[in-house]
Amino acid sequence: AWLPGCLPLALLIGASTYLLVRTRQSLERELQAALDHRELRVHYQPIFELASRRCIGAEALVRWRRPDGSPISPELFIPLAESTGQIRQITEHMLQQVLEELGELLREHPELYVSVNLAACDVCEPRVGLLAERLLARYRVSPAQIAFEITERGLLDLDSARSHLEGLRARGHRVLIDDFGTGYANLAYLQELPVDCLKIDRAFIAALPADAGGRGVAPHIIRMARDLQIKVIAEGIEHEEQARLLVLEGADYGQGWLFARPLTADQFRELIGRQSGELPAIRVA
Ligand code: C2E
Ligand code: MG
Ligand code: MG
Ligand code: MG
Repeated sequence: AWLPGCLPLALLIGASTYLLVRTRQSLERELQAALDHRELRVHYQPIFELASRRCIGAEALVRWRRPDGSPISPELFIPLAESTGQIRQITEHMLQQVLEELGELLREHPELYVSVNLAACDVCEPRVGLLAERLLARYRVSPAQIAFEITERGLLDLDSARSHLEGLRARGHRVLIDDFGTGYANLAYLQELPVDCLKIDRAFIAALPADAGGRGVAPHIIRMARDLQIKVIAEGIEHEEQARLLVLEGADYGQGWLFARPLTADQFRELIGRQSGELPAIRVA
């Protein structure tokens, strides 16, 4: 007797699963076309030293627009690319684009660095380090000017991650832990792994001034990082009050809409030019 009642539900579930699979497959094909035609772009979100408000580098963030101009969020297609394996091509493309677009700027400004996001599967392969070595030699940029961001998900296989991160460090790269505090990883890795910097997830920064019972988790992360002699970048700073509190708590660096949105390579170059006095601060119309 329950069967007829369940039938419409089963049909509904069947149909929506079918649609999901269809959407996934067509998105995967579109992404492959975008990769083949080198249509993925890089935007650079500047990272600032909080105390001085000087830009010390940028994070490379992938950008994808469909041929009709509509943007697709990396929150949507990065997880897809991780499951299809296309993420490897994305990582390689990002590294190449970063050096192609900013190689010259990085040569002229050895104090700047650009960080590239790695997916979990990139962390357990020597591929990325080898590609970076080739590109850095070609563009005559120091390995210290390319950092890699990994999330705690990339550390689940700690032994394998350790040897590859040590490899990247040995090549001269910095290693940053991204979205710190959201990954449920066993914190023991912080003592075992060669980590240069923790990026405090923006959820903890958003909680900063509103938190009535105190300032939440961020100050504790900052203190712990200081004890371990690891630098801290606060992500997603949107308000002046957050920046002020973070300086008081001793955070080193910050990134967020308060300072700058992700920029094109040209806009980022202009920001660096203004900062180092190579361009007038106010452009005459
Ligand atoms: P993420 O690495 O934690 O990057 C920071 C995200 O926060 C970016 O989103 C950035 O645009 C956004 N953001 C920066 N400042 C603010 C702020 O003040 N407020 C708010 N609400 N958001 C801010 P985006 O570009 O959409 O990227 C989302 C995620 O996609 C990234 O998080 C990263 O996990 C992933 N992703 C982006 N590009 C790449 C890539 O080239 N490779 C890989 N593997 N993942 C990438
Ligand atoms: Mg990141
Ligand atoms: Mg992050
Ligand atoms: Mg994130």
